[in-house]
Amino acid sequence: MNCIFCKIGRGEIPSEKVYEDEDVFIIKDIDPKAEKHYLMIPKHHYKLISDMTDDDAAALMRGLRKLPALADKLGLKNGYRLVINQGDDAGQTVFHLHVHILGGQYLDFPDLKNK
Ligand code: AMP
Ligand code: ZN
Repeated sequence: MNCIFCKIGRGEIPSEKVYEDEDVFIIKDIDPKAEKHYLMIPKHHYKLISDMTDDDAAALMRGLRKLPALADKLGLKNGYRLVINQGDDAGQTVFHLHVHILGGQYLDFPDLKNK
């Protein structure tokens, strides 16, 4: 399958991996949108929340629950924002579900409706 995140997971494409367990890995985003920008990527490939199995949901939640313990090491001790882009309106560009982890600074919360 020609999926960049699956290739990163298999080590076929280099990445800056900062965490890995049996469920997920976390890499630095190649084009950061905040002082700290990571991606939590489930090891199992699926595109959308609507494609998730119960096992996928449990695996992602196990991964997310590791974040509080990792926050200090990742420079996120003052807080962070999680974003999951889903589909065209959200501008999803990689079709392997992933959670953006943004922080390392105060994060404005823009009002997008008039843009
Ligand atoms: P999304 O638009 O929500 O699908 O997010 C895809 C994210 O993947 C973007 O923030 C990209 O900067 C990031 N990205 C794409 N290719 C790579 C890569 N090879 N290594 C790290 N991050 C990547
Ligand atoms: Zn994939």
